Amino acid sequence: MKTIQGIGVSAGIAVGAIRVPDTADRAVERHVVDDPNAEVERFRTARDTAVVQLKQLRDKTAAEFGEDMAELFDTHQLMLRDPAYAENIEDLIASRKVNAEYAVSDTAERFAAMFAGMDNSYMQTRAADVKDVSRRVINVLIDERGGVAADEGSSEGHIVLAEDLAPSETVQLDRAKVLGFVTAKGSANSHTAILARTMGLPAIVGIGDAFEPADDGHTAVIDGTSGLVFIDPDAATLAEYQSRKAQYEEHLRLLQELKGKPTETKSGQRVRLYANIGRPSDVAAVLANDAEGIGLFRSEFLYLESEDWPTEEFQFEAYRQVAQKMGDRLVVVRTLDIGADKQVGYFNLEHEGNPALGYRAIRICLTRPEIFKVQLRALLRASVYGNIAIMLPMITSVEEVRDAKRILEEVKEELRGEHIDFDERIQVGVMIETPASVIMADELAAEVDFFSIGTNDLTQYTLACDRQNPKLGRFADPHSPAVLRMIRMAVEAAHRHGIWCGICGELGADLNLTDTFLAIGVDELSVPPTSVLPLRNAIRNC
Ligand code: PEP
Ligand code: MG
Repeated sequence: MKTIQGIGVSAGIAVGAIRVPDTADRAVERHVVDDPNAEVERFRTARDTAVVQLKQLRDKTAAEFGEDMAELFDTHQLMLRDPAYAENIEDLIASRKVNAEYAVSDTAERFAAMFAGMDNSYMQTRAADVKDVSRRVINVLIDERGGVAADEGSSEGHIVLAEDLAPSETVQLDRAKVLGFVTAKGSANSHTAILARTMGLPAIVGIGDAFEPADDGHTAVIDGTSGLVFIDPDAATLAEYQSRKAQYEEHLRLLQELKGKPTETKSGQRVRLYANIGRPSDVAAVLANDAEGIGLFRSEFLYLESEDWPTEEFQFEAYRQVAQKMGDRLVVVRTLDIGADKQVGYFNLEHEGNPALGYRAIRICLTRPEIFKVQLRALLRASVYGNIAIMLPMITSVEEVRDAKRILEEVKEELRGEHIDFDERIQVGVMIETPASVIMADELAAEVDFFSIGTNDLTQYTLACDRQNPKLGRFADPHSPAVLRMIRMAVEAAHRHGIWCGICGELGADLNLTDTFLAIGVDELSVPPTSVLPLRNAIRNC
């Protein structure tokens, strides 16, 4: 038995024979062409065919996995139509008299290297995309069909083991035959990993040098949660994982049954069960997991994923989309929480010796209101499209809340002057994530409509333990009575003033504390989308 540790990116267990698809990049040879104009025409025709293929792939993906997943293939079509991409290829053909296959392959390598070198994880994933679309064009040029030929003639129920899988190849895997996949390359946030999760296919990436094409045909067990791969498993391992697989499938079945069921305990105590998101495309997972609202939209991702200041229009579009997709359900948008571990180049923040205690979040917004106002305008404008609430992070005093509300009022007044509609009754809340905010909770509760406890930072600041430091172990225990007492104090203060109090930090999803949170009277729990149904199950069993 060979045991390999990879990165588990999509939960689930698969047991089956390994199949190594023949996906080695078709060898692209370079040769001189007599008629570069004809070669440019060849490229254009192949590109147009590839665009048609991508349209079909888009429709198939939309039908099977939803619009959000399909958007990736809109992006792929745009990449193929990008004038800079075509220009580079056509220039190469014209100036060096090379064949179209070579020009596409060379351009793909250059563009991929450029994207991979960018200091932005979103742009880095574009490197795989540009290679993926270029491979499709090359396949058309050498008269092969686009996409992976992974399943042709293969036996039923196998595990794909590959060097890498492009998103377009992943989406074309035959789910009736493919039980899961393992790749040598890849990362947890790649589109391929996201697709695997959406498809419910156990998947492991990043096994690196352990990738061995000679394993083709051998039996494997893969565990997409732990990232473990067993090749030629011994009888005990096989039996153990077969039983775990059965348990996991039973768990999934149970969870599906819970969709649409109320989140209430056996004695009838209701809790609002919301989800956390970082970007508009996460709403698909929120809806798929039947969350009752969004309790934390970390809006700073719109800033982290931009090369420059996100404009009011760009932000408005993002908030509008989320609000609209969520309909009547509440969407709590946290205002900009930049600083500490979340650095953005164009903010030009000075280096700080102790950034977690530094110039971050609301402190930036209150001292640079011109930045804050852009976000508030976008949020207010989007508020007429759904049920948006505004949440202020890192609050330590009543003055900060009053200052923020004053700026909000100025923005409202501006909008009224411009006859732009917004939700006049929009809720404003604060995050309780500093000890000061707990101590001042009564005074703060009198100022706002709700509290949401950020247990990640509250643990860090209460226990004086850097949340980024993995060495702190038991000292950074969020189950510490000090943290739990802080939570209780915040909830009680909220209730004394007739406002609601939720938890949006990671602790909200900790099933060992569900009973405690219910006993304390927490009104809302906002957790990662995949934790929604397990938490509903736990609450219904309380
Ligand atoms: C928190 O601090 O618990 C929280 C939800 O905010 P973030 O993790 O984004 O700092
Ligand atoms: Mg926080």
